[in-house]
Amino acid sequence: MGNLLDGIEEVLLMGPGPSCVSEEVYKALSRKTLGHLDPYFIKIMDGIKAQLQTLLQTENSLTMPISGTGSAGMESVFVNLVELGDAVLILKNGVFGLRMAEVATRLGAAVDVLEFAWGTPVLVESVKKQLAVKEYKLVAMVHAETSTGVCNPVQEIGALLSGLDTLYLVDAVTSFGGMEVAMDKWVIDALYSGSQKCLSCPPGLAPVSFSLRAVNVIMNRKSKVPNWYLDMSLIASYWEGKSRAYHHTAPVNMLYGLYQALYLILQEGPEAVYHRHREMHKMLVTGLETLGLEMLVDESCRLPMLNAVKIPEGVDEAAVRRRLLADYKIEIGAGLGPLAGQIWRLGLMGHTARPENVERLLNALREIL
Ligand code: PLP
Repeated sequence: MGNLLDGIEEVLLMGPGPSCVSEEVYKALSRKTLGHLDPYFIKIMDGIKAQLQTLLQTENSLTMPISGTGSAGMESVFVNLVELGDAVLILKNGVFGLRMAEVATRLGAAVDVLEFAWGTPVLVESVKKQLAVKEYKLVAMVHAETSTGVCNPVQEIGALLSGLDTLYLVDAVTSFGGMEVAMDKWVIDALYSGSQKCLSCPPGLAPVSFSLRAVNVIMNRKSKVPNWYLDMSLIASYWEGKSRAYHHTAPVNMLYGLYQALYLILQEGPEAVYHRHREMHKMLVTGLETLGLEMLVDESCRLPMLNAVKIPEGVDEAAVRRRLLADYKIEIGAGLGPLAGQIWRLGLMGHTARPENVERLLNALREIL
């Protein structure tokens, strides 16, 4: 049998992630593997941490990538901050809010879910009312709900919680790297992301960051963190301080890739990168409307990097996706949960968000439809 890898063809990744990876990041991934305690590799780790802090606009010392995908990031923030019986409020308007509730429930938390219609944002007023009737240890929300294309009001909910004794946890898997995430200004206590969305690195790493307040909560837990691999107090001894202690063997080459991906964003300038995402989103929406297609989400709360498009009457949505992949080498995403069969999810994440890609997708859709 020949080598299966020889059969890989380049696909334009315009779904909900992974996104396209630049040649610079591929080159970084193929650099020589160093030992995970090699002093030069530790310099690279410190570089990653500094880049993450800059891009997240945070002074948080406990900022690092978790070895694992975005879901490992989600598990790590909940497992470190939540203990048995803790009152947790999840603001849910899509698949990833649902997952947060699932993760917190498995940890034995007393979970309340405030639900909002899929395709619409979390309403600040409803959250305010809920906070007036009950005190929570932690409130969690997804910034960019990848299942619907909705941008949730992260800053406004942060303002609501500031001054309260409640931790604020945010999923920034899809938003980070494609739009502003200002962790300290928005008073976020814990945040996680993923490498394969707007950072345009392959999947496999989950940047996380914890505020000083969150670190204090971890240090004063009544019980041990019930997951050894994701215990931040143990991982911190590998990522912080003068002498580094082995915890697990870091995915060295993946970390080279993340370093390079962050380097490229900072080199282009975060503002320019966010502007590029917004411009490509406008170009895509205009083109889709010309084709007679309609967006799911109201303009006021649409994400630039994840565009949910309603499937026109009588169109076999799966057949369109199959043709896009087979004939045009373009991947787009299907709807999830209650939106399955109702929408396509078109991603403009990171390196994918370029005019030639938007044009290529619009031309292909014009021909197919
Ligand atoms: N949270 C959000 C908002 C996501 O979009 C995703 C993945 O699409 C995840 C969490 C889970 O990340 P992963 O699939 O990398 O584990």
